[in-house]
Formats: sequence, C-alpha cells, structure tokens
Amino acid sequence: LTILGLESSCDDTAAAIVRLNGTAEILAQTVHGQAQLHAAFGGVVPEIAARAHAEKLDLCVAEVLRASGLTLRDMDAIAVTAGPGLIGGVMSGVMCAKGLAAGADLPLIGVNHLAGHALTPRLTDAVPYPYLMLLVSGGHCQFLRVDGAQEFTRIGGTIDDAPGEAFDKTARLLGLGQPGGPAVEAEARQGDAARHAFPRPLLDRPGCDMSFSGLKTALLRARNAQMAEAGGLTRQDRADLCAGFQAAVRDVLAEKTRRALAAHPDLRLLAVAGGVAANQAIRAALVDVAEGADTRFVAPPLALCTDNAAMIAYAGAELFRLGVRDDMTLAARPRWPLDAASPAMLGSGR
Ligand code: ATP
Ligand code: FE
Repeated sequence: LTILGLESSCDDTAAAIVRLNGTAEILAQTVHGQAQLHAAFGGVVPEIAARAHAEKLDLCVAEVLRASGLTLRDMDAIAVTAGPGLIGGVMSGVMCAKGLAAGADLPLIGVNHLAGHALTPRLTDAVPYPYLMLLVSGGHCQFLRVDGAQEFTRIGGTIDDAPGEAFDKTARLLGLGQPGGPAVEAEARQGDAARHAFPRPLLDRPGCDMSFSGLKTALLRARNAQMAEAGGLTRQDRADLCAGFQAAVRDVLAEKTRRALAAHPDLRLLAVAGGVAANQAIRAALVDVAEGADTRFVAPPLALCTDNAAMIAYAGAELFRLGVRDDMTLAARPRWPLDAASPAMLGSGR
C-alpha cells in the first residue's frame, strides 16, 4: 500500500510518500517552512500562508516523486490534511489533492491533522492500540486515548493556551529568538528554577485539564518587577525566569500525565508528539512518570513530532485499510474535533 500525503494546515508545506507493508516505511518526504515569510509579522499571516502553500504544493509533490523514483501511477491513494487549521492553507492542500486524484484516477482520503500527530508513534515504532497520546505543540495540548485510527477519546487538555505558545511568548517577552521553545530551554539550563515561585495551575483540581495562560501573566509580572527594581534584566535574571517558567510547565504536564495514566490502567504505553515534546526537561519528567506507572514511553524523532506529511500519508494508509474513501466533495474544515463527543477543540487560541 503506497500513499502520497500532503500537509498545509499551518506554516509548513509538506509532501511525503509512505509505504505500508506490514511495517511502515517513509519512501520520501519534504517540508518547506514559511518561517522567513512570517518573521516580520510576529506570527503566521493566514493570507501569506495560503498563497505560499498554493505555490509550494506542486513543488513538494514533484520533489517526493523524484526522490522516490515513483510516479502517481504507483500510488494507491492521495491523503491530505482536511483540517483543522488555517482554512486558506487547508483549502490549498485539498484542492491540490483533488487535482492529483482526479488526474491519476486515485482515491482521495481526507485526514484530520491531529489524527496524523496522534498516529505518528505507530509510523515510527511498533505501537499497538490502545495507548495514551500527549499532544503538546504550538497550537494544541491534549491527552488522547487512542483505540484505533478513528477512535480517539479526549481525556483532558488545556483550557486556554498551548504550552508551545507560552514558550514562544516567554521568549518574546525576554527578547529571545523564535521559535521560543529551544531558546527558552537553552537559557533555562543556566538558570535557577527556585528563584521565582511560578504557579502550577489546576493541579489543585481533579482531572487532566490544564491551563497555561496564568503562567504567562506570572512571568510578565516577575519580569516587570525585576526591571522596575534593577532597571533591566541581566543574563542571569533571564535564565532564572526561563528556568522557573519551564519547571512550571514541566510539573503541570508531568502531574497531569501521571493522573491520565492512573485513570486508565489499561493504557500501558505513553506516546508524545508536538514540538514541545522536544524539550529535554519535559521529556525527562515524562520518562519518569511512565517508569513510575510501569508504562512504555515512545517519542518519535523531532522531525516527525512537528508538522510533516509522512504522518498524514501514514494516517491515510490506516484509513485506507479501514475502507475510508473521500470524493470530490471533500471539504476543508477549520475546526475538526478528533473526539466527536468533545464539545470544542480548545487550545488553538492563536
Ligand atoms: P500545531 O501543530 O499544533 O498547529 P505548531 O505547528 O506550531 O502547532 P509544532 O510545529 O508541533 O507546533 O511545534 C512548535 C512549537 O513547539 C513552538 O511553539 C515551539 O516553541 C515549541 N518547541 C519547539 N522546541 C521546543 C523546546 N525545546 N522546548 C519547548 N518548546 C519547544
Ligand atoms: Fe501540527
């Protein structure tokens, strides 16, 4: 089973070819990021993103076909992110996929971007269902119970910001570069986490919901207090703020993960995805939690944790095997909760 996947829901245009033959193999993949295009605006500009996706999609497809030595005729289906995401970008991808599918007379499969993230551990490792997925990225933060390629149950998640977004804002407040995660992590290594008493929101409440917006405010206050007192921030002040902030995020994620595993004793595998899972301090805390709960821990390589098309092709392959097929009526969806029972997809507040 050979699937071409397309991804264009945020600020990365990507294509990949994945073969599923007992095990999954990535035959070719490419990602064209748009960071420079948006840098001057301090965030992703939807119109600019949509235009860039429309320009880059064909190029991405040509690249992976060339790299794999295959043609569209060798594909069994075209999988494309059909949401959730920035609607212009998702539409570009869906239109490109429709054109390819119609031209080569191939089945079309619309994939939920979050399902792509949530199924990634099965692309990279021999991970059986069911498992617990912690998805922590720039736009999302949620615990998912994964029982199948179409069976997701949201166990909890952020009620406001995503941690990646908080890392990015922290970096901006402290004059560090973007993306904020790696910059804050590097500073935090030199810092003293105990200097500031940052809150651990919602730990006093039962359940697996989380909140990160208060933490952002606490950081802003601590920074302003320091600036008022000393007239500026030293390198060490910055490092201490980063260390305190990161420790708070780490503690909240670790404790809520511990609770999610305790509440679902049949889940003996914890997998992570999303850019924040690259953070070494957070990852180490999650490894500890998994060990303490006698649970296997799986973290895909970073390039597959962030936005990519291999995860979309792989999810498309699993759906194809389940008999899922879309047609030319496939629509781009800005919102698309993975868990039909969950009222709203919170945590995409950008
Ligand atoms: P989404 O996929 O939810 O729409 P996104 O594409 O912004 O959002 P990713 O590409 O998965 O998310 O991850 C990017 C986020 O991860 C950024 O917010 C970035 O700051 C954060 N991040 C990356 N590396 C680290 C790190 N080492 N520590 C903490 N955060 C990190
Ligand atoms: Fe994503």
